[in-house]
Order: sequence, then structure tokens, then C-alpha cells
Amino acid sequence: MDTLKRFADEKLTALTNRNLRRTLHPTGRLPPSLAERGGRKLISFACNDYLGLSQHARVKEAAVRAIGRYGAGAGASRLVTGNNPLYQELEATLARIKGTEAALVFGSGYLANIGIIPTLIGEPDLIVGDESMHSCMHAGARLSGAKTVLFDHNDVADCRARLKAHRAAHPKCLVMTEGVFSMDGDRAPVKALARLAEEFDAWFMTDDAHALGVIGDGRGSAFADEGEAGKIDVPLQMGTLSKAAGAYGGYLCASAPVIDLIANRARSLFYSTALPPAVLASATEALKMIEDDRDLVAKPLAKARLFTQRMGLEAAQSAIVPMIVGDPQKALYAAGALEDEGFLVIAIRPPTVPEGTSRLRFTFSAAHADGDIERLAEALRRIGPRIGIRG
Ligand SMILES: *Cc1c(COP(=O)(O)O)cnc(C)c1O
Repeated sequence: MDTLKRFADEKLTALTNRNLRRTLHPTGRLPPSLAERGGRKLISFACNDYLGLSQHARVKEAAVRAIGRYGAGAGASRLVTGNNPLYQELEATLARIKGTEAALVFGSGYLANIGIIPTLIGEPDLIVGDESMHSCMHAGARLSGAKTVLFDHNDVADCRARLKAHRAAHPKCLVMTEGVFSMDGDRAPVKALARLAEEFDAWFMTDDAHALGVIGDGRGSAFADEGEAGKIDVPLQMGTLSKAAGAYGGYLCASAPVIDLIANRARSLFYSTALPPAVLASATEALKMIEDDRDLVAKPLAKARLFTQRMGLEAAQSAIVPMIVGDPQKALYAAGALEDEGFLVIAIRPPTVPEGTSRLRFTFSAAHADGDIERLAEALRRIGPRIGIRG
């Protein structure tokens, strides 16, 4: 066998032996919250489509109209001919929701983070980030060449200690966290971290991928810290249009000069083709619904809390609820048992989460019926004892 094939085979065998092999399953998503796999329709508790907007008639019709008018693909990057007029309304809507002067839309959330971070911060500078932050924040940090220091998850005191130890030795500093953590479902202490960044003359960025459309009346984590009213000043609010907005694309909301600078310098913005017009139109339509429909954006959290209440767990802080089982094999077994009962739930394993914390990750959507959640909780009560999970 040639060395390339042998290399791949050996790597794959090692992953299989550790129960860390992943498989791409053909999965059709159907309204309201179904996923079709292997000819079976499962109720999905695995999508990040928290408001069901990817299946909403208004959102789909907006996409169809845009295709009719402008075609399927963008044709070039935004700097060339891909900057469809639909970008203007999309970015204005984002800036309005986030309360910033301006917004900039990238090809995806991943592309946004690997474009924004190296534009603002470089080799002599410092990044202080939450240890659980998303893979693409780590990727952006590495690309920037800045010294990167991680603080214990959601630990403001540890973040302070890291800033104290390192800040003075670097010209610029960026503090980064997620508004809602994608694999844990908990929220960052955004207000405290924003203040800390200010105290140490550092810039502060949140990745609000799982917060938009779900917390802070749908406007995100800068509008959600309980206890104190009003907006928290987060100068760099990054996020994605691929989750609650039901479409695709990443964004940054910030002041006008910062957006202008990033639009001039971020390589992932202009060395990559612009988003298809249909995606721009559907994202804009979805954002307008997020902006206008308070009842809709309250639903995912209420659904998640119904689940945590039924399972005797701590009240959900977002639309994401993890159940940590530890061992990857147990997580796979539990996901398989739930699939037999008609539910799609994903076993999350390393390297997505730390060793020893493999888990089931449940996501809740406005599109779920309460009865679906009741039946999921019942199924888990039957399966749980076999794998030693709570509930
Ligand atoms: C999903 C996700 C991203 C990536 O966004 P895409 O638009 O899917 O590329 C970035 N950050 C976090 C926290 C995410 O969960």
C-alpha cells in the first residue's frame, strides 16, 4: 500500500480503537424539527436552528426571491463583484440589533474569527481567552502570532491573575470569550469580563454564536447579564448567522472605524468568495423576525428549562444542555439508545470536549413541541441508569 493510504488507515484505526472515529451521516432536515437518517424520521435535539427559522416560510421565500433576481452564486469576493446590495440591509440590521455603529458579514463564523483576530492583534501582543473557547477562536489566535494565555473556564479571578501577570509586557491585549458556550450551554460573566478588560486597557470580544436569537431578548450576551439592567459595552461582538438565524455567514458588530479597518485587512473576507444572494436574503429576513418577535426568541430557553426541570437538572442558561457521561463509548451507547427511541442526539467526544468529559449535547428549539421534550425526558429516565447519568 502507498504511504499516504497507510498513514490514513493507521490514524483511522487508532481513532476507532479509542471510540473517537466520526462518521458523516446523510441527514435531511425537515420541518418542524425532524432529521431523516437511514430512512427514519427522528426528532432532532441536535440542531442549532434554535428558532426553527431555517424552515420558516418567510425565510425560505426570501431566499427564493433572491435566487430569482440575482442567481445562485456570488461570482466573486466582496471586493470584486460579490458585494450584492443585499449585504447593506443585512449589515444594517445586525448593527441595529447589536446596538453598534456598524457590522461586517463574513463567509462563516469560522472565517470571521480567523480574519478578525489577526487584523487587530499581532506578534508582540497578548490574547487572554477562556480555556473552553471555540476551535476557531484558537485558530485565529494562532494565526495572529500573539502570545496566548488561557484562563480557567468562566473564572473572572483567574482571568484577572493572567492579565496581572502578562498584560504589562505587551503593547496590545485582547480578552476573548463565548457569550454562550457551545458544548456546555453556560453563559460567560460578560459584564465582569468587560470591566476587567477595561481596567487592564485590553479590548474585549465575545463570540455570540449561540446567544443571538436566544438570550438578551434575542440580541445576545451583551444584553443578557442578569442583575444589572441595560446593555454591557462589548466593543467586538462576533457571531454567526448559521445558528438561530437559520442561514449561513459570520459577522462582527463594532464601531465604524474598526469595521472599516477589518473590511480593509481581514484576509478571510476578501480572499474568499462572497455569500450567495439567497443566504443574505434569508439571514436578513430571519434577523428581522428575531428583532420583532419577543415571544419567539423566548421559546428556546423555555423549552430547555422544561427539559432541565423534568430531568431534575440545574435550570438551563441557554438552548444547550449537556449531560456529561465521561466515557466516549457510553456517550455513543446513549446516543444509539435514544436513536432507537426516535430521537437524534449527538455524542460529543474529544477533541471537541476535554478527555473524560464525553457527553450528550441536547439543543432545544422553538419548533419543539412540549410533548416531544416530555417523551425525551422519559426515554432518558429509562436509559440513564444503564450509563450512570443523572436524572
Ligand atoms: C458554530 C460556531 C462558530 C462557527 O460558526 P460557523 O458560521 O458555523 O462557521 C464559531 N464560534 C462558535 C462558538 C460556534 O459555536
